[in-house]
Amino acid sequence: MKFEFLGTSDTGGIPLHHCTCKVCQEAREKGISNRSTSAYLTLDDGSVILFDAGCDTLMDRFNTVTIRAVFLTHFHADHCLGLMRLRKSVTTIPCYIPDDSNGFGDLFVHKDSLRYRVLNPLESVEIQGVTITAVALVHSKPTLGYVIRTKTKTVAYLTDCGNIEETMLTFLHAQKIDHLFIDACYSDGMLSQKHCTPQSAAALIRRIEPKNGYFIHASCQTLLPIREKKIKAEYPYIEQGFNVEV
Ligand SMILES: [Zn+2]
Ligand SMILES: [Zn+2]
Ligand SMILES: [Zn+2]
Repeated sequence: MKFEFLGTSDTGGIPLHHCTCKVCQEAREKGISNRSTSAYLTLDDGSVILFDAGCDTLMDRFNTVTIRAVFLTHFHADHCLGLMRLRKSVTTIPCYIPDDSNGFGDLFVHKDSLRYRVLNPLESVEIQGVTITAVALVHSKPTLGYVIRTKTKTVAYLTDCGNIEETMLTFLHAQKIDHLFIDACYSDGMLSQKHCTPQSAAALIRRIEPKNGYFIHASCQTLLPIREKKIKAEYPYIEQGFNVEV
């Protein structure tokens, strides 16, 4: 099985519209378009489980692939925009969501093919031998992270978050996580409970003690001082297409 990222950027993405910084110029030269953070797990039978649906081209990417379920972290546009199209699928798609009555746009008015189910923190769902457990994250909207346990590996997908409460940290530490991906959107020095910085995300990784830690949800402003070697990030920022065998 494979856990792969469709995108690893923040809302603006890389390259950012009209931005001429080194990070964005380099992305343009390489033909890279790294957009909203979202990922998917490919199961043994070729079907997939989506983690977030920020990518607007999910219908194309998974045109002939069975989508077993979507696990949504929260209802910000950069994580749920793809649901607008996915809901028009002719097959039913279970969509696990945090408890947020506001949702996004008219997604709750016109549910179409999406079957929503609210998950509470520490609630688990099993799909084809894979256990997915929700964890509460501190963000500006009700938000869940997900711990994904296969037969061989455990992955934590933690976006968006500005912090993680102690009970959740204790739970995450006990999971013995192999690969942990965490929001490190803001530049060091930006104090907020909406998104972590490289410093605050690294502190959370050290507390959880996974085998491997990675930063996601990057903006070019966050990456620029690292690219220019003005600061050193303790963990790598991964790019779209990054994947791990699980
Ligand atoms: Zn830029
Ligand atoms: Zn968000
Ligand atoms: Zn986001």
